[in-house]
Amino acid sequence: MEESLPTDRFVTALRRRLGAEGVLDAPERIARFMVEQRGRYPGQGRVVARPRSTEEVADTVRLCQQHRVAIVPQSGNTGTVGGASPRHAGELLLSLERLHRIRQMDAEDGLLTAEAGCTLSDLQQTAEEAGWFLPLSLASEQQCRLGGNLATNAGGLNVLRYGMARRMTLGIEVVLSDGRVWSDLRGLSKDNSGYDLRDLFIGSEGTLGIITAATLRLAPQPRNRRVALIAMENVATALPLLRLAQSECGDAVSAAELMSQTALGMARLLPDTPENPLPTAPWYLLLELATPDPRADLDEALQAGLLQFQEAGAIRDAVVAPTGAAARRLWQLRTAIPEGQKRAGASIKHDISIRPGQIAAFIPAALAAVEQACPGARPCIFGHVGDGNLHFNVSQPETMSAETFDHHLDSLNRAVHDEVHRFAGSVAAEHGVGQLKRAEVLRYADPVHTELMRRIRQALDPEGLLNPGKGAT
Ligand SMILES: Cc1cc2nc3c(=O)[nH]c(=O)nc-3n(C[C@H](O)[C@H](O)[C@H](O)COP(=O)(O)OP(=O)(O)OC[C@H]3O[C@@H](n4cnc5c(N)ncnc54)[C@H](O)[C@@H]3O)c2cc1C
Repeated sequence: MEESLPTDRFVTALRRRLGAEGVLDAPERIARFMVEQRGRYPGQGRVVARPRSTEEVADTVRLCQQHRVAIVPQSGNTGTVGGASPRHAGELLLSLERLHRIRQMDAEDGLLTAEAGCTLSDLQQTAEEAGWFLPLSLASEQQCRLGGNLATNAGGLNVLRYGMARRMTLGIEVVLSDGRVWSDLRGLSKDNSGYDLRDLFIGSEGTLGIITAATLRLAPQPRNRRVALIAMENVATALPLLRLAQSECGDAVSAAELMSQTALGMARLLPDTPENPLPTAPWYLLLELATPDPRADLDEALQAGLLQFQEAGAIRDAVVAPTGAAARRLWQLRTAIPEGQKRAGASIKHDISIRPGQIAAFIPAALAAVEQACPGARPCIFGHVGDGNLHFNVSQPETMSAETFDHHLDSLNRAVHDEVHRFAGSVAAEHGVGQLKRAEVLRYADPVHTELMRRIRQALDPEGLLNPGKGAT
């Protein structure tokens, strides 16, 4: 089924339903959908469907059922685990990019109902114009789209304060594998009338249904903001600093990003990354404090905490910026790291999570394991320290070719992931499983958990047409 091309009969029927612009098969027009972030899983599909409405998605899925064509949903195509790439020429790439209507901005209740193809940055702007704040924020926010954000249960920069995408979602609309539509966009905060199907579809990476719309819960706009960059002697300082900031400022602490010196150096490989304003230090912490309360004295709280650590010799220096260009420049040091790391050559990436309190012990243990697996490899460590989520990436040694380095994929995965397992963590924290993490997640998984997930997948997609070969089932 998967290996053979979709038949002419199928493509003709699809074109009849979606129109000429709704079905693409010219190689030059489908090329951009087949590009994959990591370059590891280039899409093999030959046909792209671009429906414009939930009804058109439902009809596309029904046609796929009739013709037994597998479906790979794609929204913004920024996923980093190969989840949105067709593995075979016979799979249909179903792009949600033309479902981009804002259905309702309810300014009274702070609820935004939008379609899966809206970019995250457009949604942030819609919320802002209505006097609200959409806290989901990723470095890819100009490209990624709501459907993909929910299908991956995206995390990002504000999870510490606001949680992952799931926590911001009050309702979703989904096209099921048989073409029926399940929709609950009522925007209820409380509904204990049965199993939570919404949360099942969120994070399911296109394996249980196609998300076509969602209702998001917005937050009050945090107009009073401070961003602090802190140079630390030791990674073990990061968590006590964060905990102190939280005890002084409570929920105002919305982000806490850890960066190694190597990671900051790689960010600076991008030409427009600003200079690091602080002296060289092995580790940096970027803290953001933000509150809707204009009277809160964030400076005083921050300075008191920083002074305490400086006197104890735990931090070398710090800069604090208010809202505006200076704060954006500090953030740029962090958000430029993924692109900067690409400029440093080939890399093997690990998106892991452990309890935050274990980070100071985990990092040296994992660094030692990496050095043993591939001497000279350059760990580029950054991430959301308050969530216990590190991007424990490893770049090729300067003296090694990319090809030789790639042969270390298995040994480096083993080095880092065995440590994660030893610390009772997860080897797939926020980017999902896709193709990249499938074997790794299954390797460490609890068999009961895997078995339950397989049964759910079988119940919702008995023909196995939704994103086959992806996810941990
Ligand atoms: C520079 C950069 C920084 C990033 N930073 C972060 C970060 O901080 N935190 C984070 O969590 N992620 C991050 N990512 C990863 C990525 O941006 C997120 O996973 C994002 O949520 C994916 O959204 P998308 O629209 O691009 O999804 P896609 O790449 O199109 O798809 C992702 C997965 O969801 C499935 N899917 C897509 N749309 C639907 C749908 N409508 N219904 C059902 N299934 C669907 C796909 O089949 C695929 O399995 C980053 C990526 C880049 C390139």
